[in-house]
Amino acid sequence: MTNKPGKVYLIGAGPGDPGLITLKAKTCIEQADVVVYDYLAAPTLLEFAKKDVQLVYVGKKGGDHTLTQDKINQLLVDKAAQGLQVARLKGGDPFVFGRGAEEAQQLLSAGVAYEVIPGVTSAISAPAYAGIPVTHRDHTAFVSFITGHEDPTKKDSRMQWDIFAKSDATLVFLMGVKNLENIVTNLVSHGKPADTPVALVRWGTTPLQQTVTGTLDTIVEKVRQAKLKSPAVIVVGSVVSLRKELAWFDKKPLFGKKIVITRARAQASGLTAQLTHLGAHCIEIPTIRIQPPQDITQMKDAITRIRDYDWLVFTSVNGVKFFFDTLFDMGMDVRILGHLKFACIGPVTKQRLGDFGIISDILPETFRAESVVNAFSHTDIQGKKVLLPRAKKARTILPEELTKMGAKVDEVTAYETVLDSDNKNTLTSLLEEKQIDAVTFTSSSTVSNFISLLDPDQAPQLLKDVTIASIGPITSDTARSLGLKPSIEADPYTIAGLVDSLVAYFSAAGRP
Ligand code: SAH
Repeated sequence: MTNKPGKVYLIGAGPGDPGLITLKAKTCIEQADVVVYDYLAAPTLLEFAKKDVQLVYVGKKGGDHTLTQDKINQLLVDKAAQGLQVARLKGGDPFVFGRGAEEAQQLLSAGVAYEVIPGVTSAISAPAYAGIPVTHRDHTAFVSFITGHEDPTKKDSRMQWDIFAKSDATLVFLMGVKNLENIVTNLVSHGKPADTPVALVRWGTTPLQQTVTGTLDTIVEKVRQAKLKSPAVIVVGSVVSLRKELAWFDKKPLFGKKIVITRARAQASGLTAQLTHLGAHCIEIPTIRIQPPQDITQMKDAITRIRDYDWLVFTSVNGVKFFFDTLFDMGMDVRILGHLKFACIGPVTKQRLGDFGIISDILPETFRAESVVNAFSHTDIQGKKVLLPRAKKARTILPEELTKMGAKVDEVTAYETVLDSDNKNTLTSLLEEKQIDAVTFTSSSTVSNFISLLDPDQAPQLLKDVTIASIGPITSDTARSLGLKPSIEADPYTIAGLVDSLVAYFSAAGRP
């Protein structure tokens, strides 16, 4: 308990694309003590919250309410009464069919302070991502947001079908998929022309977005054929015809592709962000977990004797991270490294080292022997002492080449990669349901761990139609040795190269 008064922020979390959150909402989530959220809010927004935040899921998938509205209202009041800052995240905008107003009224009557942070409503954003502007000067002067949820047998209906049918307004129905036939029948029977264009946009603004277009005459059948379900907005009006010209989101090169990322969770975000930007639906199934070595003494000893070394060589961003973590834990700082020369394999490792204020002297682009030899060719490494902090069980090429050049190399284990099998069942069911188009592998261990998550008898069948994408020849070799057939191999052997190769592959003519 604190004396500070609590407050509830009714926040619009946007329609699904996490990029559509407002800056004000983001700040509010970052500062909240409690985040109360429901089904439609983009789950990644929760990552903005503080580490010790209380997360409360209150559900609302179709009619299946995890908490009733009364209980949600009470929860908000109770948390605020404890002096907590509460972020109440609601899909889209809180005041557009979101019952945000009811929550505000309850807070008001309980004497709890609140603020409203409007959000991007699905009513305009789902059509916009489908290339449908809800207004256009040549088409209509106004737009209506209408509930599609009203019980058709309700006596005192508020639905003014005659007005909807006669006006040239763009009509946007929310919560209306189950009621589509009823909506269409009412519009037509009240005089709306049967050839009026209609679109349904499901999961708008997300990589799972699905759009079905037709006319009042044809849409029910088309939606049935497409098996389109809730949540979707229904747009009725001539502006729908602009989609042919203005569609953009579903034209992204990887739109609709369901791509598995097998990298460790901490490293997946860059690849996920790049692929998502290109329209892919990324499914993170980390197969490796990166952790400090069980025995840290080797690393600590090397750091204690750091003055004995001439070179510090890093082969991965993890090596850099865990080296500096240990150094800082030992109460030292980078000044102790002032006498050293540095080499980093690959530009990303170099960049990570740069984060600590150190510029790498040498940059072999790859692990290949010739690349290492070339990079060191202008350096006298004869008799020099090299410290190589890296993964347990790392490949031997680099120490071998450096030793051949006359260096004295000490390898120390900076981190370990272990199998992450948390998502074993999720992976198997996604493959069984054919919910995966491609799997990306960014190292040999991601491949071997991935395979070990599958039942060996089932694996060939499960992976039959799945595109295998590898970051480079070594990873591809491992994949082949385990019975996989990579169709994509990155060139250059980097994350950016992998992304480009996926785009090239899926953009090739005729690719499903
Ligand atoms: N306050 C929300 C609406 C809540 S009512 C908003 O402003 O968007 C729930 C309805 O919103 C769903 O039945 C569906 O019609 C619509 N909806 C929400 N998110 C959607 C999305 N990403 N794509 C399409 N429709 C969506």
